[in-house]
Amino acid sequence: MVKVVKFGGSSLASAGQFEKVANIIHSDESRKYVVPSAPGKRTKSDTKVTDMLYACYALAEADKDYEPSLMKIKARYDEIIKGLNLDLSLDKEFDTIRANFKKHAGKDYAASRGEYLNGIVMANYLGFEFLDAAEVVFFDSEGNFLANETNTALSNRLKDMGKVVLPGFYGSTTDGRVKTFSRGGSDITGSILARAAKADMYENWTDVSGFLVADPRIVENPVTINTITYRELRELSYMGATVLHEDAVFPVRESGIPINIKNTNRPEDEGTMIVESTCRTPDYTITGIAGKKGFVSINIEKDMMNSEIGFGRKILEAFEMNGISFEHMPSGIDTLTVFVHQPEFEGKEQAVLSAIHRLCEPDSIEIDTGLALIAVVGRGMRSNRGVAGRMFAALAHNNINIRMIDQGSSELNIIIGVADEDFETAIKSIYDMFVLTKL
Ligand code: ASP
Repeated sequence: MVKVVKFGGSSLASAGQFEKVANIIHSDESRKYVVPSAPGKRTKSDTKVTDMLYACYALAEADKDYEPSLMKIKARYDEIIKGLNLDLSLDKEFDTIRANFKKHAGKDYAASRGEYLNGIVMANYLGFEFLDAAEVVFFDSEGNFLANETNTALSNRLKDMGKVVLPGFYGSTTDGRVKTFSRGGSDITGSILARAAKADMYENWTDVSGFLVADPRIVENPVTINTITYRELRELSYMGATVLHEDAVFPVRESGIPINIKNTNRPEDEGTMIVESTCRTPDYTITGIAGKKGFVSINIEKDMMNSEIGFGRKILEAFEMNGISFEHMPSGIDTLTVFVHQPEFEGKEQAVLSAIHRLCEPDSIEIDTGLALIAVVGRGMRSNRGVAGRMFAALAHNNINIRMIDQGSSELNIIIGVADEDFETAIKSIYDMFVLTKL
């Protein structure tokens, strides 16, 4: 049995947290491969090392004095090293970083040092080998991740190594620059490593005991999801549920490796299992609810639109030409509505509208703003009749007007559009209906 274990920033924020992590790793021989994030927040008001690095580098780039800021970062590591009684000095590493900052080595290089240094500390503390991610995780010169090249290089390297610490979040481009994934990207590194190591399990350790059915800022004490499929997770993360980076699913999914979300502060909790498929019946009809505010709908009306072949394509072309992706497109007989993300649409609004006029000659176009989309996701919905009925009854009961309904053909989700101000109440009422009343 081989496990890859990834620890998030809050799991590695202090020497005390490092001790918990080491206990977890040493308690199971199969935890052979470790991916650390950079030290995160120790308290709510603290700053993550990654953010400190971005700020420090901004000073360096503006040719301002960045030394005090760099020393504050070093102090974070020194405190951990001292707390763990390690015989380790990062002085030389910081000399290199200082010199590279001076040469304006780039924002990505700067941010990546958080994981790089934490990897060195972690490897020293655990007695594992350190492998610099820049040597085995690759991006092309445009910054696109090279999955196959990475997998080959990484699996080859692992063959000659024992237990390994591979820092998360970054790699290097084919032209030799350090490049990071987007924020939270250490989750992706963990998944890449699990694939390359042909692991049996990818454990992702964080500060919550798994995925919650709904956002705890909206629903008080929501229950934890016990088992979720990759597809369900994808739907929920797309709609804003966080915990795991959206792109972390792809490498492990390809090789059928399950992910277990675990809590470093409560290792005894089972957490959430993310799997390809399962015979485990979900505890509730729905697996999760997630949503986002800030959508706009563009409602296009034209008599006899339905008989005009190519009408839909022309509408979408107007969005495509302006580089806007659409979220949903419900249609009637003479009407068609396109849902887009407001921030993406705002600056290009007039260009899109004139393109629609030019390409489709509609009778009218109306724009509605302030819309929220909510995804109700669950593999249990497929075999269950009346799910939509119960959901709409719950919303009607709470005086919520539904502005859009869309059910994917997979029957894995129902998406509804409501006014931004109804967003929280809508999520609460759906949660109450399916989880609290267990209907
Ligand atoms: N340290 C990086 C961040 O704060 C990456 C990560 O933690 O996954 O985004």
